Amino acid sequence: MILISHIRQFIFCPRILYFYTFCDIKPLYPEYVSLGTQYHNRQNELFKSRKFLKFKLPIIKVYNNLYLQDLSMSGIADLVIECKDEIIVAEYKNQNKPILSTGAKMQLIAYSILASKYLNKPFSKIMLICSNNLKFKIFDITNDDLIKFDKVINSIKKMIDQEIFPHSNASIAACIQCEFKNYCDDRE
Ligand code: SF4
Repeated sequence: MILISHIRQFIFCPRILYFYTFCDIKPLYPEYVSLGTQYHNRQNELFKSRKFLKFKLPIIKVYNNLYLQDLSMSGIADLVIECKDEIIVAEYKNQNKPILSTGAKMQLIAYSILASKYLNKPFSKIMLICSNNLKFKIFDITNDDLIKFDKVINSIKKMIDQEIFPHSNASIAACIQCEFKNYCDDRE
């Protein structure tokens, strides 16, 4: 079973998933993690009064922190927007610009696949919500994105099956902000 939150970490650096899966390490998280938690908590509070009219979508229902699972993946989606003919999964991100990383996109595709099964409606878009006042951007999911998603999932399964400590191409900048920076002894 793949935890969907691990998909983004695997893309950031495959060793992070290795450490979480095979090592009993309790890492010290950098400050931005607690700031992100505070941002999410604020959005959870605001959810109780929001109507999401700003999205201008034919919304039927919006689900907050929806737990999703099938035989291969599980996780909690920040927001699942059920529209008349489709579902759109959204993620809250504590940043000013609506920039979606590859890791975040792959993670949102994973939630979309599960939410689509759960609500029995198709998906073709994902949404990033950032900053204040429901600033948002919708992104199309392309066929190339889906092909890339399958490759990432296969790579994760292979690493977990083989239990081999993976090579990493993470940059020095990535390692500096990583919670496992003291555990990779081939890094600066
Ligand atoms: S310190 Fe660098 S190489 Fe090691 S897990 Fe973190 S990002 Fe990957």
